Amino acid sequence: MDNTHADACLVALKLLVRAGASVTAAHHRTGVLPLEQFLRSRSLQFWRGCEVAAVVDTLVAAGASATAANEGRWRPLDYAVLIPSKAAAQGTVEALVAAGADVRQVSSRGKTLLHRVAECGSAQSMAAVIKMLLAAGCDPLAVDSKGQLAAQLLQQRPPSGSDSEAAAVSRAAQLLLDAMAAHAAAAQAAVAAQRAQQAELEAQLATQRAQLAAQQAQLAAQQAQLVAQQEQQEEQSLCMICTARPRTMGLMPCCHWGYCSDCADRLQKCPVCSRLVESKARIYAL
Ligand SMILES: [Zn+2]
Ligand SMILES: [Zn+2]
Repeated sequence: MDNTHADACLVALKLLVRAGASVTAAHHRTGVLPLEQFLRSRSLQFWRGCEVAAVVDTLVAAGASATAANEGRWRPLDYAVLIPSKAAAQGTVEALVAAGADVRQVSSRGKTLLHRVAECGSAQSMAAVIKMLLAAGCDPLAVDSKGQLAAQLLQQRPPSGSDSEAAAVSRAAQLLLDAMAAHAAAAQAAVAAQRAQQAELEAQLATQRAQLAAQQAQLAAQQAQLVAQQEQQEEQSLCMICTARPRTMGLMPCCHWGYCSDCADRLQKCPVCSRLVESKARIYAL
């Protein structure tokens, strides 16, 4: 279906921009910027997504900001998600995201786009917009500065006029509740996975500690063995009589050896074979 109103608006906008009209100047009385003014226009619900996107693209290309907040701390996306037509809202959000806006934006009062829709969204487009925002990564568990969830704001809305509106709001509420449950379950699973990982790391650490203790014990045993060997070696290299000085002398002619020079000097007979000592010779150990 052709929308001559949208076509005419786009043509007029392009002409104005080409003629040098500012897209960044605020309204002299209300302070509203052109992009904001456009997104708040009631007739947008009759526009197609591509038509709204074309206007947003034109304004952004001419210098309008897709992300700047106004005095009331609302940004373009805050208005885009309130457009009462699913197609127009979706087209606008996509155009703004392409121009650098982030659907996970949070206002200075902690409001996510889900909070905006829950508070002020149109029943007509609400469920579709919420679905789109959740798919784009908005967090349904986020709370605003008053600690309110988007789902709570939705429940606090005044009762809707018609049955179809009430049904749309309750469908939107159900979407939020389901998403909250899914997010909570995912968070719990992540915590469980983290705990399991931690337990595994602790088990690894315990194994490593046990290995280290075993290695240390082995090392201590080896050191003790080494000390014993050294002691034995020292003992074997000391004089058999005084056990204080190194054994350096052999007795001739029997060739028994194992005495220090002092003790050897005092020997008349070999203590091993009892032969008379005729002379002594220095022994060099290898
Ligand atoms: Zn000796
Ligand atoms: Zn001898």
